[in-house]
Formats: sequence, C-alpha cells, structure tokens
Amino acid sequence: MRVLEVASEAVPFAKTGGLADVVGALPGALSRLGCDVTLVLPAYRRVFEQGLPIEPTGIEFEVPIGGRRPLARVLRCPVPGSSATALLVANDEFFDRPSLYGGANDYPDNAERFIFFSRAATELACRQSAPFDIIHCHDWQTGLVPAYQKILYRDWPAVANARTVMTIHNLAYQGLFWHWDMLLTGLDWKYFNWQQMEFHEQLNLLKTGIVFADAVSTVSPTYAREIQTPEGGCGLEGLLAARAGVLTGIVNGIDTVAWNPATDPHIPRPFTAADVEEGKYAARVALAARLGHPAPDDRPLVAFVGRLVEQKGVNLVLELLSRLAGTGRAHFMVLGTGDPAAEESLQRAAASFPGTVDVVTHFDEGLAHLVQAAADIVLVPSRFEPCGLTQLYAQRYGAVPVVRATGGLLDTVIDATPEAINDGSATGFVFGPAEAGALVQAVERALDLHANRDRWQQLVRQVMARDWSWDSSGRAYLRVFEETLARAPATIG
Ligand code: ADP
Repeated sequence: MRVLEVASEAVPFAKTGGLADVVGALPGALSRLGCDVTLVLPAYRRVFEQGLPIEPTGIEFEVPIGGRRPLARVLRCPVPGSSATALLVANDEFFDRPSLYGGANDYPDNAERFIFFSRAATELACRQSAPFDIIHCHDWQTGLVPAYQKILYRDWPAVANARTVMTIHNLAYQGLFWHWDMLLTGLDWKYFNWQQMEFHEQLNLLKTGIVFADAVSTVSPTYAREIQTPEGGCGLEGLLAARAGVLTGIVNGIDTVAWNPATDPHIPRPFTAADVEEGKYAARVALAARLGHPAPDDRPLVAFVGRLVEQKGVNLVLELLSRLAGTGRAHFMVLGTGDPAAEESLQRAAASFPGTVDVVTHFDEGLAHLVQAAADIVLVPSRFEPCGLTQLYAQRYGAVPVVRATGGLLDTVIDATPEAINDGSATGFVFGPAEAGALVQAVERALDLHANRDRWQQLVRQVMARDWSWDSSGRAYLRVFEETLARAPATIG
C-alpha cells in the first residue's frame, strides 16, 4: 500500500508537541507493516538545523495562492529509523522563520502558509509517478488536502483513486480564519457553507478536512466519543456525530527507541525494571546538578512536563504546589513553556519554596528525558487530553502517572486500587473532577503508597511492563486504511 503522510511537524525534523512524535514514528511503523510511505513536511528553518542529510530533488513548481504564485521547492531526506522518504516543501517567505507557528502569537499569515503547504503537498502527490492509495492528513494545517484531492486535483492519476484519512490530534485547534482567506484556497465560494468549510462565518480548515476526508480518526477511543458531545466537541460535535460511522480512535504509540531508559543518552545511568531504583537515583543526582542543588533530594519527586496552558491543568498544578509544597512530603519539578502568566506564577512558587519546587520554563528535550527518568510520580491533570504522551513516557521510565479521567488518559492508565495492584493491572492514579482537591487527593494516595517501598516497587514494575510501542497502533491505522480503501469514496455535496 502506498501511503502519503502529510503533516506540519515530525520528529526529528521539527517539533512543537506530541503531533511531531506521532508523525515521526508512524512512517516507521507503517513501513514495518509493508507500506511504502512518503512523508510531506514544510521545510522550516529548524529542519536544516538538525544535521539531517537533506538533498535537493530538482522539483519545483508554482502554487496558486489567491492572486500570487509562490514557488514550492522540494527537498528530500530519508526518515530516520525507517525506509520512508520525507519530501520537504521549501519556500523561504513562508518557512524560513524562527518558529513553526509563531510562538506566543501566531504568525498573522498562518492561513496563507498552510494553505500554501496543503496545496503544494497535494500537487506534489499528483506529480509522483506511482499512485497513492492513502493520503493521511494530520490536524488543521493539512485540512485542505482532502478537499483539494476531491475537487481541484481529482483528475490527476496519482491521487484520483486515493482515499483520504483525516486525523484529529486536538480538536481545540481548528485553524479558524476570516472568511476572505477563502480566496487564498482557490476553491469555489459554493463550498463556503455551514455544512462544509464555514464555521460561524469563518473559514475552518480542520472542519474542511473532517467533511471531505473518506475517514476520520483521532488519538484515543475515549476522545473519539468525547468529541461527539457538546462538552468535548468544540462546536463540531454534530459533524463528528454525523461521521461516527467512519470515525475511529487509535491510541498513539511511542517511539520506543528515543524513549528507552535502557539506552537513553540523556540519562546518566541507563536502566530497566531490574535496576530502576539505581537508575532513578543516578538521574536524581544529575538533575540536582542541572538545577544547581548541592545534593539530590531523597523525598519522592513529583514532576510535570508539558505545555503550560489551561488544557494541561496548569492551574491545578499551581494549586497543588500551594497546598502540598509546604508539607515537605515531596520535591516538585515543572518543565514547561506556554502561557506567560502561568510561567510567572510557577516561578513565584519556585521562589517561595526553594529546594522543594523547581521550575524550568524553556523547551528542553534532553531535560524532559532526565525528568522522566528521575521522577517517581508524573502529573497529567489535563482538562481534556486527546491521547497524551507524557503518561506513556512516564510509564516506560518507571514514573507512576497521576492523571485526570479524560480522553486518552483514561484509555492508558488504570487506577491503582488495592485490587488492581494485586491483580497486576494498575498503572497509575486516576482522579475525576478537574478540581485541585481531587488532584491533591490522588497525589496523596500516590505518596502514601510510595512510603511502602515493596508495594511501590511492585507498581513501578507493572507500570514499566506496559507495551506502548507503535506495533499495535500501526496495525490499527493499517486496518483503518484497508477499510477505507474497501469503501467507495465519500461524496461531496
Ligand atoms: P501535547 O501534544 O498536547 O503538547 P503530549 O503529551 O501529546 O501533549 O506531548 C507533549 C510532548 O512535548 C512530550 O513529548 C513532552 O515531553 C514534550 N514537551 C512538552 N513541553 C516540553 C518542554 N518544555 N521541554 C521538553 N519537552 C516538552
């Protein structure tokens, strides 16, 4: 099966979040299952800073965007760890910039940048000699691709018989732009209606993808259900419920090579379940040195790694610090960037509890690995969480996750009730309401268990035994592709 993966980020080319981890790993997983995979990404400035063997292809073409025809230059690079090839769409005006999307404030021309990318990716697919079976798109940045394939490019042999699959990694980000950006798409205004590309008078790129794709998937079965409800649907619940017949939830795998405590170059003493205590101690020593502490703390380390935004429950973390840091029961560490107000509040908490609360507010992949290796408990108190990777990395590194009962967190963590510990199924602590009290209670439950070394080690070994490799997720995507190919394409209204 020939598969084209189209996305706006992928490890190791460029990353801002979990999307990059998923899209970085999927080509390898699908290749191992026999698929011939091509990945298309924007050639951001950052892509050239990774030391990758990028070479020109000689392919370039103009892409009509409104009244302009900016040039797409295509570069090529093998996808590390797989037999897949990445094609990188270069255009310096759009992608030679310091960040992917613009940091705290989005770049004002993000609509134009990703309309350009989506159209260039579709046209690039058309220019390949062998036809594609599946065009797999990820998130709003690629939402126009299914529409382009069905409308503007339907007669090109390389894509004419392809089926499109739209994967939603986070429904909260829909790519909403003012209606005049419709002119940039090159698509007829007749598609700008509430059933197709319009959302309350704005252009909605993710909705476009959901409407025009032949199948839709999201990143966990619970999230697939939640997005069909008014609470989780972000205004698209009706559309998603209407597409329920072709909507699947597939939990993300993790990159078990990059995230392997037995071989991780970011940690001082690699470890497995057999010597997890020694490995964690060494990581604690290294972390203390990184943070400027004279010696490692022997209290349990409770960590949070993630974007500092409301979705991730950052307010709950702040409240937890104010309630628990003073008790001296644990050491807390936050690694994250995001909302400047949240960063400032966290820095204040660190200043109030020196030696008990550490806060690092920049993006540091190596430090994220070290924190996971050093931590006993990892917090994921998200208000909503499509899948979540942090709790999966935590499990692999023998850090017990404390998560809220939502989305993929619910699908990947089994609460450590006494029965679940005894029968070997427990993999963390789960709390219900998005309230600080519930989080505090769950963390206290974890700390109580931590005080019983044998029981804790039993839980840690269970947690580390869970298999989150891409094998089963890759097979699930392949099944979706096969089922989608077996159906007639979705019709456009
Ligand atoms: P999301 O994609 O919503 O941000 P996920 O849990 O799916 O959440 O993925 C988050 C990813 O980003 C993980 O790989 C996590 O380690 C990483 N991450 C988030 N913030 C930081 C940071 N400040 N430094 C290093 N890695 C980070």
